[in-house]
Amino acid sequence: MKIVVVGTGYVGLVTGACLAEVGTEVICVDVNVQKIENLKKGILPIYEPGLDELVERNFKKGRLHFCTSLDDAIVGAQVVFIAVGTPPGEDGSADLQYVLQVADTVGKHMNGYIVVVTKSTVPVGTAGKVKETIAKALKERNADIDFDVASNPEFLKEGAAVDDFLKPDRIVIGVESLRAKNLLHTLYDPFVLNGHPILFMDIPSAEMTKYAANAMLATKISFMNDIANLCELVGANVNEVRKGIGSDPRIGTKFIYPGIGYGGSCFPKDVKALIKTAEQNKYNLRILSAVDDVNNDQKKVLVRKILKHYNNDLKGKTFSVWGLAFKPKTDDMREAPSLTIIDELLKAGAKVQAYDPASMHEAKHLFNGSVSLCEDAIKATESADAIILVTEWPEFRLPDWETIIENMKEHVIFDGRNIYNPDEMKEKGFIYYGIGIR
Ligand code: NAD
Repeated sequence: MKIVVVGTGYVGLVTGACLAEVGTEVICVDVNVQKIENLKKGILPIYEPGLDELVERNFKKGRLHFCTSLDDAIVGAQVVFIAVGTPPGEDGSADLQYVLQVADTVGKHMNGYIVVVTKSTVPVGTAGKVKETIAKALKERNADIDFDVASNPEFLKEGAAVDDFLKPDRIVIGVESLRAKNLLHTLYDPFVLNGHPILFMDIPSAEMTKYAANAMLATKISFMNDIANLCELVGANVNEVRKGIGSDPRIGTKFIYPGIGYGGSCFPKDVKALIKTAEQNKYNLRILSAVDDVNNDQKKVLVRKILKHYNNDLKGKTFSVWGLAFKPKTDDMREAPSLTIIDELLKAGAKVQAYDPASMHEAKHLFNGSVSLCEDAIKATESADAIILVTEWPEFRLPDWETIIENMKEHVIFDGRNIYNPDEMKEKGFIYYGIGIR
């Protein structure tokens, strides 16, 4: 089976490499010439555990190809996955221009039956637009070629993307023809030998499932952050409350960790896009608007604690920021809380020394010299007044506190992810601030 995957970002590259891993021939296409040239040399555009070996192995075996021309790649393909970006437009709705550009090119160059699968996160109705775009392009060239559209939203988690793709909890596929269903069944069967389901449904339901999933996860996070803030006011400890509620299986232990707000390329934009979809349908998604509000506020919760500690005067203070990526095991800094926090610190006249295990190249480009980037977490504490733990990378859990204490000017820690034991930190001589703990 010849597969084309358009877009070689977090979703497209993982999809392409994992499909090649089970033996199919995959061509990954991207408009970014540099990315494609690098991929051919084995240089990946992103950090994702296990992905480099997968790409290298399948590239060497000749099953995984990279190119910039969709016109050529599409010829003879049976399935094309659209995995390009769907960034928020000015009004918060998903910008579909890249998805529809791909659909247009497919319509202009396909030469036989093909299933066009949307893997990008797109609002309900997008597969219909993809279908219209392809049909129009085919009509313009007087070509009478059969095709189907399908929706196959992606649920991978950055940092565990390869595992999630190879061993998914579930695969959701929206189809409107048996032919497309059978083809996608064959393609995905190797990934569900673990017995997890392939859920076939109608296309609008598949498109909605992705937004509903992200909206639910974002809701859990904002709910818990709201409760954490109240815990502080009433003298409760959110760490205890979390365990107390998480042991109820109806609630569950996952996604109820308080922190400094969700970030990344998905939750913020998908929550906003779903609110917009509701508005366009004259419905007010009140819960999600609150989720978004709480999150925007939560990204500044540490800054508020910092300002209070220093009586609103951060001039001349040096902060050691640990973690820049929006979560551990990724180099993705899109919408990361670190950006909001660092921006506020710099505006207040403070100096920032930062370290992240994976996203230093991204940080170099984003901060453009305004932040001193250090080679490790310990170096980042030299002459620092305080540590700000932003991303809970495993290597920050048990660092060499002795050296850190010697390094620092003052001993204050703002723990944005509640990874340290407050009593232990106090014993070491730190003034400790967590989230939702008095
Ligand atoms: P990304 O920004 O990392 O990658 C998108 C890629 O598409 C880029 O390399 C870009 O150059 C390429 N591209 C844009 N227009 C193109 C065109 N016309 N032809 C060929 N290539 C083109 O994006 P991503 O994070 O992989 O996300 C892609 C989609 O998947 C988005 O809709 C996103 O919401 C969704 N999604 C992302 C994740 C995630 O964890 N990142 C998870 C699930 C779903």
